[in-house]
Amino acid sequence: MAGPLAPGLKKPLHIGLLDKVPCWLFELDESQTQEPSGCNWSEIRPSISLLDAEEWRAVACSLTLLWWRKNHRFCGSCGTETVEGTEERVLCCPNCGALFYPNQSPAVIVAVTKDDALLLAHNSHFHPEMHSILAGFVDPGETIEETVARELREEVGIEVKNIRYARSQPWPFPNSLMIGFHAEWQSGELKPDGVEIKFADWFTRDNLPALPRPGSIARMLIDEWADKR
Ligand SMILES: [Zn+2]
Repeated sequence: MAGPLAPGLKKPLHIGLLDKVPCWLFELDESQTQEPSGCNWSEIRPSISLLDAEEWRAVACSLTLLWWRKNHRFCGSCGTETVEGTEERVLCCPNCGALFYPNQSPAVIVAVTKDDALLLAHNSHFHPEMHSILAGFVDPGETIEETVARELREEVGIEVKNIRYARSQPWPFPNSLMIGFHAEWQSGELKPDGVEIKFADWFTRDNLPALPRPGSIARMLIDEWADKR
């Protein structure tokens, strides 16, 4: 980026190449509601349906770096204001030398089947009609397969078997990496925890409720199940 920054723009971050073109993250002042010249505002979550994997990678990288920079303005060890590293992407404490690299929080998401039906649940944070497969953050000390088993036990009271890794997707809300699985019901009746999960049931292919947006890992895992005959 050559030349002085326009008013309202903070220091940009280089996030990599997209189709061999350098991409930069610009953070605007919250007071700046006017679109910069030649740009359009776009809501981030709906855009996942419109972007390919490479474009989503750029969006996810940007949001995660923005979150990292905002949340490490001061050293968590001694409280001194951090400075950006010159040799690598890191925030450094000039007082105690602590380094803060961009980090991601792993979470699992799992499509559980029982005969020809799929487990879908309504989460209290969802839109009223929407149902999806279950997800949750990895606890310290857990393997990701253990997280899958624990989340299903805690949120809907079932045990699963044949937990198989399927795919992953950066999920920058604010800094997750979603790790997707397929699994099969083993035992237990569905008992939603009533806090996070308000409703859960088994749905067949001809009886599906409103689902997550195409492009999301949740929808990809659901579609993989639906396409399997
Ligand atoms: Zn420090």
